[in-house]
Amino acid sequence: PPDVEELGRSTWTFLHSMAAYYPENPTAMEQIETAQFIRTFSKLYPCWSCAEDFRKFIAKPENAPRVSSREALSRWICGAHNEVNRKLGKQEFNCNLWKKRWLENDEC
Ligand code: FAD
Repeated sequence: PPDVEELGRSTWTFLHSMAAYYPENPTAMEQIETAQFIRTFSKLYPCWSCAEDFRKFIAKPENAPRVSSREALSRWICGAHNEVNRKLGKQEFNCNLWKKRWLENDEC
């Protein structure tokens, strides 16, 4: 099986970067495809227990992927990552810093 920590760091880099470079004003089709991508991702992520918890998280109506804008998606991914941080006993990240960390590439 893959190294769950290394896989996690790489995947979060990908997901936060994807959100940071997502359109500020996405089309209806981009929104549908992005929400679908996140759902498909949750079925293929190769840490099965991680993927299962992530599916349970996004299945709650209040946690549905927010794809209406770059800001909304970046904050949504930040919240999803914080959910995992809480579960693992890691420090929560201040989501007001998403742009500084993931668009301006500052370590925070
Ligand atoms: P990471 O948590 O990988 O974070 C990398 C960097 O992202 C941090 O250094 C920080 O700069 C930044 N960051 C941290 N939090 C946020 C945030 N909320 N918003 C924006 N930026 C942030 N591991 C398990 O053991 N069990 C699991 O169930 C599990 N589920 C996972 C589910 C998913 C969808 C993913 C992608 C990963 C999961 N992982 C899980 C892996 C875990 O989240 C970490 O990636 C791994 O433990 C390595 O942690 P880390 O301390 O190096 O930093």
